[in-house]
Amino acid sequence: MDHLLDRESRFGANCYVDTRNAVSQPVPFTKAVIEGLAPGGGLFVPQEVPHLTLDEITRFADMPYPERAAFIYRKFNIDLPDDEILDLMYTSYGPNFDTPEVCPITKLEDNIYMLELWHGPTSAFKDMALQCLPNFFGASAQKLRGAGELNTGFCILVATSGDTGKAALEGFKGVPGVCVGVLYPDGGVSDIQRKQMVTTTGDNVRVWAMRGNFDDCQTNVKRVFADDAFAKDIEGQGFALSSANSINWGRLLPQIVYYMSGYADLVAKGAVSQGDPIDVCVPTGNFGNILAAWYAKQMGTPIQNLMCASNENRVLTDFIQTGTYDISDREFVLTPSPSMDILVSSNLERQLYELAGRDGSAIASWMADLNEKRAFEVDGATFAKIQETFSADSISNEECLETIRSVFKAQDYLMDPHTAVAYKTACNLKGSNPVLVASTAHWAKFGNNVYKALHEMKPSEELPGDVASLTGCQLNELIANETGKHDIPKGLADLDVMPVRFTDVIDANMASAEDAVSAFLETQ
Ligand SMILES: *Cc1c(COP(=O)(O)O)cnc(C)c1O
Repeated sequence: MDHLLDRESRFGANCYVDTRNAVSQPVPFTKAVIEGLAPGGGLFVPQEVPHLTLDEITRFADMPYPERAAFIYRKFNIDLPDDEILDLMYTSYGPNFDTPEVCPITKLEDNIYMLELWHGPTSAFKDMALQCLPNFFGASAQKLRGAGELNTGFCILVATSGDTGKAALEGFKGVPGVCVGVLYPDGGVSDIQRKQMVTTTGDNVRVWAMRGNFDDCQTNVKRVFADDAFAKDIEGQGFALSSANSINWGRLLPQIVYYMSGYADLVAKGAVSQGDPIDVCVPTGNFGNILAAWYAKQMGTPIQNLMCASNENRVLTDFIQTGTYDISDREFVLTPSPSMDILVSSNLERQLYELAGRDGSAIASWMADLNEKRAFEVDGATFAKIQETFSADSISNEECLETIRSVFKAQDYLMDPHTAVAYKTACNLKGSNPVLVASTAHWAKFGNNVYKALHEMKPSEELPGDVASLTGCQLNELIANETGKHDIPKGLADLDVMPVRFTDVIDANMASAEDAVSAFLETQ
């Protein structure tokens, strides 16, 4: 296998095919990044998944994080020069993170380790990918322009359930030749998340609230992308659309790095012997983060069980347990972990493609069923693979808050609600392997629910009047004083004094989204 790959790499870059067999000519990495979504609605996947030896993986422990990332990128044989990749990685994972370790691991109790993915500028794990993707995007666009294959600027259009939006705005702001528009569900994100987005500085950014939930945002962004007439219109304005959602392969790749790197750190800490397996537990929404863990496993990381943690929107847990993905009469529930409040989980398509023997026509028919019947059922062989690879559990809103409280009491460790869902799932599902739990946000992004947890309130209970009248920042101060956790990141502490720049609310349909984007592009 390694031999074959080495030969491949001497003869050209690793190219990308798509999950629905619609792309006749595989495209190089730079093109997959620029285009985001594949023509035909499928997602790009690499033709070859590289393999690292155990020694290569464990040696990561002696390397700075940017070197670890560059090493893995080189293995993917992407069509950018090696020294440029290394430079880009040092830019992506430098002083913009609040620790040189980038994503440190904290041991909580026997055999449970928290992989803290929130040390970047927006305090959520999305930074791990979105401090990196814009650099790749810029380098890719430059390369394609140089080759005469590109003559437009770009508008990155993002649907967000809260965390992606700010991470994309921060990552792309100021990148020449690119502007960013973000749609978030009106009323569906926390006060802090909303303020983070609507106070973003920079001339090339715009934010809209959409009347609806995250799926409405995501569906309408997908429709805008699929509208050829609109693409022509904005081409006249000098722009093409692209995506920074986790459907972009350039988002996935950086996420593979921290699982391989995390294994190396666990070996170095003596938490696991080199070669022995760990399990990984991921709070899952769009399935990007857990899919990255699957690729890390595929590439040689000794990961045994992938635990998929759901909140009360348990469509993925049910799917993993039954092989049927059914949203036909499922209610969308608001939970304390809004970044996982999702019914249509986009990256699952990539996972199914990989598990169904890369059968693009099967994927196309399942996705058509999902579209038409709001449900699909995988075949027996694929279901068997799913059961072999994943376990899953769903955590109720009450359990989530209870977990935050009990872990704080027992371990003096304060976690955000998404992390709590994963931690609780890990406790429920764990066997004898050490579990690496993806900790995906700093608690201060979700202070209102953390407050409820610490004060033994029910998730549905309103905050008491004097607390409810506090801003998100003031509430975080209060929690910091009550708990002694004064580590509120700078980017969250100053939000109240930043001017609000964006107040537009638009309807949940394609035309409204397109009108908003056109008007924005007029200003660019
Ligand atoms: C986005 C997000 C998730 C879900 O990650 P997916 O890759 O969409 O599955 C979990 N937790 C937090 C804090 C997030 O921002």
